[in-house]
Amino acid sequence: MNIIYKAGIFLIFWLTSSTVFAEADFVARRNVDFIHYKAELAADFKALSVSGKVQIEFVAKVENVEQLTFSAKYKTIYSVKINNVTTANLIEDERLIVTFKEPLQVNKTYLLTVEYQALPERGMKFYDDHLFTVYHTKNWLVSHDSIADKASFELLLTHDAKLTSVGNGRLLSTGAKFGNKVISHWLQDSPIPIYTFGFALGEFEEVRATHKNSQLSYLYRKNSKSGLDPQKIKDVFINVPDMIDFFENKAGFVLPNKSYQYVVVEGYMAQEAAGFSLVGEKYVHTVLADKNENWFIAHELAHEWWGNSITCANFSHFWLNEGLVQFLVAAYKQHLFGNSAYKQEIGVAIARVKRAVQKGKISPVAFKHQIKEQSINRTMAYSKGALIFYMLRNKLGEEIFWRALKHYSIKNKQSSVTTDDLKKAFEKVSKQDLTHFFNRWVYGKEIPKLSL
Ligand SMILES: [Zn+2]
Repeated sequence: MNIIYKAGIFLIFWLTSSTVFAEADFVARRNVDFIHYKAELAADFKALSVSGKVQIEFVAKVENVEQLTFSAKYKTIYSVKINNVTTANLIEDERLIVTFKEPLQVNKTYLLTVEYQALPERGMKFYDDHLFTVYHTKNWLVSHDSIADKASFELLLTHDAKLTSVGNGRLLSTGAKFGNKVISHWLQDSPIPIYTFGFALGEFEEVRATHKNSQLSYLYRKNSKSGLDPQKIKDVFINVPDMIDFFENKAGFVLPNKSYQYVVVEGYMAQEAAGFSLVGEKYVHTVLADKNENWFIAHELAHEWWGNSITCANFSHFWLNEGLVQFLVAAYKQHLFGNSAYKQEIGVAIARVKRAVQKGKISPVAFKHQIKEQSINRTMAYSKGALIFYMLRNKLGEEIFWRALKHYSIKNKQSSVTTDDLKKAFEKVSKQDLTHFFNRWVYGKEIPKLSL
């Protein structure tokens, strides 16, 4: 009787707590807050490697933190120090496990220094005359991997003096030449998500421009290699100032770094970092052939607001980065080219979702539990995600929709967000309960039947 009674109490507690859990989006508990990274690195074009040291400033947020773990994949670790004292470390299952002599003190700042070499098979691309990092930061930099935990990033990159470097934030200095080398010192002082840490290096030509208070720069390989010249670069990127105005207006705040660089690299590439993006020569040539093909220029730039400043707290809410940006590219094209361009972009999203359905690749757009990056259904996050914003715009009307998006954007500037943050912002501005809409279309698998 007593046991049954207790079990009953437990059942009631379990039902109540699981109901509460089901209502809220999952947000990971953080043991440690990573504050600032200072990396002193050099890349080797022949060895396809990067080496040097990284100093990581962090704070323990809970009691009894005795270990920290980082990816050791593709890396050789030479030394590990905590507050300048050599500390025990172990490589196990491609992980670097750092063990402290005693548990860390809560809210105290620590400095971890790691000397290493990385040969990242993914996360960096090397060509004869240029190289760049791409997305998988933990493969080339000893670093944490929680996207919700933003940190500032300082990079001192040693390189051949004839090469041009691009990093996050602003170039503080390119030091005096020693031999044929220089050190470019980049600083991104506002915190950014870890996957937007990066750099590029190459024999680049440059076209510069200013727009209001923002500095713009376009780097590309010389004409004999890229088929590009200053006039072609100006033609391809002609709408960037207008894009900045459009996104600033929709977000309600200015371009975060007040500077932006596009680095035109070999092949097909479209990847944002913070303060710059990598765009492929192949894509750039498609714009020269047809100006309507400028989606990637708008897409990567839009990430400066949605993705880099307002970042999904985990991969369960990846559509807040990608679905929103895909929708905003459609909205930008509507602004630039008219309604038919908007319909065409939305039509592309509808067709992609339809193809995924035909292949049986259906999943919700967002999840209340945590999913791993490998589990992301990209068509649902990007294309069905964009369609959800299209549906919200139709449902709420022009004025309320854009006011709600601006409210969401300003409120969550330089933060991490879950789907619930978006829902709350749209509910507040529209004065509507959107629970049914979000449960059905975002957390549910149902595919909307849309006709344009
Ligand atoms: Zn994107």
